[in-house]
Amino acid sequence: MRVLITGAAGFLGSHLAERFLHDGHEVVGVDNFITGSRENLKPLEAHAGFTFVEHDISEPFFPEGELDGVLHFASPASPVDYLEIPIQTLKVGSRGTHHTLGIALAKKARFLLASTSEVYGDPQVHPQPESYWGHVNPVGVRGCYDEAKRFAEAMTMAYHRHHGVDTRIVRIFNTYGPRMRPGDGRVVSNFIVQALQGEPLTVYGDGSQTRSFCYVDDEVEGIYRLFFSERVLPTNIGNPDEFTIRELAEVVLEETGSSSTVETRPLPQDDPKVRRPDISVAREVLGWEPKIPLREGIRRTIPYFREVLNRVGGTARTLG
Ligand code: NAD
Ligand code: UDP
Repeated sequence: MRVLITGAAGFLGSHLAERFLHDGHEVVGVDNFITGSRENLKPLEAHAGFTFVEHDISEPFFPEGELDGVLHFASPASPVDYLEIPIQTLKVGSRGTHHTLGIALAKKARFLLASTSEVYGDPQVHPQPESYWGHVNPVGVRGCYDEAKRFAEAMTMAYHRHHGVDTRIVRIFNTYGPRMRPGDGRVVSNFIVQALQGEPLTVYGDGSQTRSFCYVDDEVEGIYRLFFSERVLPTNIGNPDEFTIRELAEVVLEETGSSSTVETRPLPQDDPKVRRPDISVAREVLGWEPKIPLREGIRRTIPYFREVLNRVGGTARTLG
């Protein structure tokens, strides 16, 4: 197969591209580096089947050659990023999704949208099944990301129903691992970087809010299986093991052996209080479930950050 992956220089896009290349497929990567890094392209460039185009996918794009798949992963994903660049976030979720669906239609390619657990907002149903419509504040600060993704899902289904494009939608829950930037700003990278640098771990609010963290290898396996499945409706891919943010801080402190303290910061507006995927659909349709527990995933991620901090430096990035 020959597939186009937008956001290929990002954390998830680069791992996904590598998975396709590893299995002998060709990958055309597209990225404008707004939150990605050239460093993430290096392992991909080692494969003969990889080509790259620097382009802002919110602007029209007409790739050459045949394509069998289009996977739209371009979008700021860390709250620190999308709060800083809300308009670009809305554009890549709306115009970027429109453009990539147009490419899939023109090339008769299968399309996969990287959606998110954020479509459930601050959920009132717990855990969240795909059938839950969500609880999103459209005019709150997170609305730029949440509503862009909800629009992207609606656009994807419209192209499926109206144009017959063969589409997939993955709702990704908090994923972490190597290739996140030290300054990504999401909680796992922040805590590991802070612990390694002897800085206080910044817990927002009282740290009782929960997330369910999925190691990147598990996430990519689930997305890959979804792409090759026949499932059109949205599918949750995430790890259902749920932790409070305080518990995450404890795990990071134990696994890094750091003597950093824990410091409290104000809770950001509309920060979801709980989040946990119901993965019954993924289990049944894809035969998939995550294998790597949080502590093991954190153990696998620490050496990456240690190496990057030693080689190029960097710091955690916090809100406010
Ligand atoms: P990331 O910020 O590491 O990667 C996003 C990539 O998209 C970056 O390389 C960035 O430069 C690129 N990009 C952004 N706007 C672009 C544009 N207009 N044109 C071209 N490239 C552009 O984030 P990530 O964690 O790898 O997330 C990838 C995708 O997965 C996103 O769509 C995100 O919404 C989704 N997602 C991720 C998570 C997670 O936990 N990692 C959770 C839910 C959804
Ligand atoms: N968080 C935190 N300290 C940080 C970064 C994040 O306590 O330095 C919290 C944040 O308030 C949220 C959770 O960790 O409750 C996950 O935040 P993240 O930015 O990773 O992603 P989100 O799930 O909110 O999109």
